[in-house]
Amino acid sequence: MKFNSKVIHAGQQPEATSGAVMPPIFQTSTYVQEAPGVNQGYDYARVGNPTRTALEKMIAGLEGADACACFGSGCAAMDALLKMFRPGDHVISSNDLYGGTYRLFTQVFEPFGISFSFIDLTDIEKVEDAVTPNTKLIWIETPTNPLLNIVDIEALTGLARSREILTVVDNTFASPYLQQPLSLGADAVMHSTTKYLGGHSDVIGGAVATSHPAILENLLFQVKTTGGVPGPMDAYLTLRGIKTLAVRMERTCDNTRHIARFLRDHPGVKSVRYPGFEDHPGHEIASRQMKDFGGMVSFTLKNDDIESAHMFMKNTRLFTLAESLGGVESLISHPASMTHGSIPAEVRRKAGLNDSLIRLSVGIEDASDLVSDLERAFGTI
Ligand SMILES: *Cc1c(COP(=O)(O)O)cnc(C)c1O
Repeated sequence: MKFNSKVIHAGQQPEATSGAVMPPIFQTSTYVQEAPGVNQGYDYARVGNPTRTALEKMIAGLEGADACACFGSGCAAMDALLKMFRPGDHVISSNDLYGGTYRLFTQVFEPFGISFSFIDLTDIEKVEDAVTPNTKLIWIETPTNPLLNIVDIEALTGLARSREILTVVDNTFASPYLQQPLSLGADAVMHSTTKYLGGHSDVIGGAVATSHPAILENLLFQVKTTGGVPGPMDAYLTLRGIKTLAVRMERTCDNTRHIARFLRDHPGVKSVRYPGFEDHPGHEIASRQMKDFGGMVSFTLKNDDIESAHMFMKNTRLFTLAESLGGVESLISHPASMTHGSIPAEVRRKAGLNDSLIRLSVGIEDASDLVSDLERAFGTI
């Protein structure tokens, strides 16, 4: 099946008792047993729920995985994954990581004795140098946020496999529409389904898809034991969102390309970060491992200061000032004062996160309206 069909049909069947085409929201905590231990595949809803199962089969299908486990948030999904490691284990990750992931690693797992190295994953030699005999995992995120750096998944999974190190890709920014990390050698793929998969900014959720037996065994154990699972309503909303993933992504990518070009040509703009541009350092890798260049674009202003960025954001109307990404509506944000506000200014600038850097999550509105909206905002700064 092609991807456009998978987003409708992967792992889906009409519901057995009624023929309902969409799975009902099975709002129940427990299930009848004919005799102790004899049931229809479900015994208690922390462990399993048919609405959640429908979502898990869908995401497994989209990522080409044997199985998937869904969680109440992307952070809960990462938490469950990381719990397969033990004190003394070492994890290599990116120095350009989602803030919530960095917090989870350094403030929850580091105190429990797992160590982390945060390095530039676009530099394979640096990754090789960071490997120790205790390295158990390389945690990859690509494209990164908000600088949209591209990490070569296949190169890293190749290096990891030769040393018996596991690899996990946080595929939130790309979505399985753009890249399927398992086919590039990753052992597991993680999502904040809150973003492109859900796609409508109306539900929080997370997922891990894998064909790796030990990772799957740990996930199922965590689902049952630590229980960070989504409710059936949230599973339903996410599944509903996924049905339109392919058409949303197609429009989003087209709109983003259009906006990136508009920004590049605008006299008020200093620089644009968009992996679709040939002079982007990761363009060649992105062309290889992604189907298109995604729905995110970041840019800096000629007046590279925080005030100009704030003024700009105050004057967009369609682009809504908000955290998050991946919904049908276009969002605008300012990393230096929002997501990355806690990083000291010097460190932030050194990483390429300039004061005026503005990040757009481009929605599926009409591209000409989005451009007019940005045009108006440029007129005010
Ligand atoms: C949002 C996000 C997360 C965390 O997911 P939540 O659903 O907000 O818990 C993890 N990784 C990336 C790349 C994200 O954008």
